[in-house]
Formats: sequence, C-alpha cells, structure tokens
Amino acid sequence: MPLRLVLLGPPASGKGTQGRRIAEREGLAYLSTGALLREELENEGPIAEEIRPVLARGGYVADDTMCRIMEPWLASHESAGWVLDGFPRTAAQDDFLGRWLDERGQSVDAAVALEVPQSELLGRIERRVECPQCRWSGQKSETDGGHCPKCGAVAGPRADDGRENFLRRFDEFALHALPVIERYARREKLIRCDATDDIGTVADRLARYIDSLSSHGQEA
Ligand SMILES: [Zn+2]
Repeated sequence: MPLRLVLLGPPASGKGTQGRRIAEREGLAYLSTGALLREELENEGPIAEEIRPVLARGGYVADDTMCRIMEPWLASHESAGWVLDGFPRTAAQDDFLGRWLDERGQSVDAAVALEVPQSELLGRIERRVECPQCRWSGQKSETDGGHCPKCGAVAGPRADDGRENFLRRFDEFALHALPVIERYARREKLIRCDATDDIGTVADRLARYIDSLSSHGQEA
C-alpha cells in the first residue's frame, strides 16, 4: 500500500525540508502547495489573477480555489504514495481530501505535525531562501555559498517572506490548521514531532515514526 501523509505545522516549521526528505526516503511524491501557487503566478495560469492579491498580502487562498488546484494533482497521483505540504490547511480542505480519497477506497495514513515555538520560527523566517529555477527552499546555511544545492542557481529571499507576512500566516495557521491537527489526533492518526532541533535530527526522528507506521501496516 502506498503511504499517504500530510504535513501540518506553522509557517517556517520545516515542512518543505522535511517533506522532501520523507518523500525521497520513502519513494513518495512530494507536493508543496506554496510552490504550486507561486508557479501558477509566474506562468500566468488561469487562476493567477485571483490568487495574486491574496499571496501578495501573505494570506491563504480560498478553500474552493485550493481544492480546484489540488484535484488534478491528486488525480495524476491516484495510485502513488505522497507527502502533502500545505494541504489540507483548513477543515473544509480536509473534508475535500477525505471525500476524494474515500471515493477511491483510500485514506490519509498519518498527519505529521511539526512543532516549533513562535520565537524560533521568526528567526528562521529571516534566514530563509528559495531557488527561482527548481523551487528548492531552505535556510541560507544549507546553500552552497548562496547557490541552490540542487541545481546551482542563485537562491534568494522568498517573495512571501517577511515578519508581517509571517505573523499573519501564523495567525491563520492557529485559527484554521490547529483544528485540522486536532481532527487527526481524534482519529488517532497524528504524529506530533518536536521540530526545534537541526534538520538531520528532526529527519531521523520522523524516519523512526514513519518506520513504526509502516511496520504496523504490515502487521494489520
Ligand atoms: Zn535550484
């Protein structure tokens, strides 16, 4: 059975970095909705004008728009395992995902909640960069002297970063995503992970959680 995971956590909690690591290790597809939306803007896609002002003020895209963007991606990965980063971000999006999977006899295997205090997140925001070529994003210290570790292009600050944007997104997270985390806790499908340590330590911790998940799956 392919593993289907959702990553939940406040902005800058390391969802992108950890999500890609999990995907590589487990052989899963990885989707960052943030990168998907920024790509839509750059390619002047059909919903670019609708989402541009929302993203410009650091807000989140409306649920129905988000689901419209997600549907084709899910459809093209129907038989694959995946890690979703940035979706579902609200209870309504989680309802959509649950229905979509249920219609295919599938479900989310686990939600991973990355936990980092707000003060630590603010520091990370100030050090974060992204590659304009391949969409890699991470901390400045992870670059190769300012160059993307994946493709070598010059990585720069992310367009949606900044203290004000962060605080607005953090509030949105607390309001809309915390209830989603609680849902997965009630379904006993939540993995809470302390994500304050360095990237390698957090990745190892997550790998152990995910290993125990798949060994349970085999026993069942
Ligand atoms: Zn790159």
